[in-house]
Amino acid sequence: AGTGKFFVGGNWKCNGTKDSIKQLVSDLNSATLEPDVDVVVGPPFVYIDQVKSSLSDRIEIAAQNSWIGKGGAFTGEISAEQLKDIGCKWVILGHSERRHVIGENDEFIGKKAAYALGQNLGVIACIGELLEEREAGKTFDVCFKQLKAYADAVSSWDNIVIAYEPVWAIGTGKVASPEQAQEVHVAVRDWLAKNVSPEVASKTRIIYGGSVNAGNSAELAKKEDIDGFLVGGASLKGSDFATIINSVT
Ligand code: PEP
Repeated sequence: AGTGKFFVGGNWKCNGTKDSIKQLVSDLNSATLEPDVDVVVGPPFVYIDQVKSSLSDRIEIAAQNSWIGKGGAFTGEISAEQLKDIGCKWVILGHSERRHVIGENDEFIGKKAAYALGQNLGVIACIGELLEEREAGKTFDVCFKQLKAYADAVSSWDNIVIAYEPVWAIGTGKVASPEQAQEVHVAVRDWLAKNVSPEVASKTRIIYGGSVNAGNSAELAKKEDIDGFLVGGASLKGSDFATIINSVT
């Protein structure tokens, strides 16, 4: 972990029922969490209100997506204004499932980030390479291109946390080694220093995501440029998520 406040987000994806979420919230409310860690959970839209009204204020809420602009005639979309209205502080954007399953591109994601920031939501801005891109030696190129799309669209990095999530590690049980993750985090920080500013590079938190669990988080958290985690599967179990949050030392 670096000098910034450790940040751990839980991405619940399209999982849960009213009952299972009630249990998860109750487990999180009774867990002992390190005080010096920012903790955020991202429920599916339809359960945000339930979570907001039952979860401890100690944990903030993220949406998993937001519309590119002001609401209106956009069937099926949810606007940043609506997310603010129901108490969200954050939104996860550019997740690999939205890029590669739904088909969102860099420019679209950049615009969404700019709009959400303009509505005072924090943005968890995801980047990451596919396995074939890593094997072709293109990891940095892909990450830098995705970063540039954010940088071209946003006017401030104050409310952005970057999540490096190699696609081959997401939901696969194949976690990046601490060295692999650290290598990309350093490269991302260098890119920010050269292309945005040294101040933004040093203060922006860069978190790792991809098969983080209660057993591997402590080793990853030791790396200097790993400022936290974005956790999918393991965030659905309160005790595992708490262990990950508490893995910063
Ligand atoms: C994610 O979806 O952001 C993620 C990292 O998932 P998992 O932890 O399940 O690999």
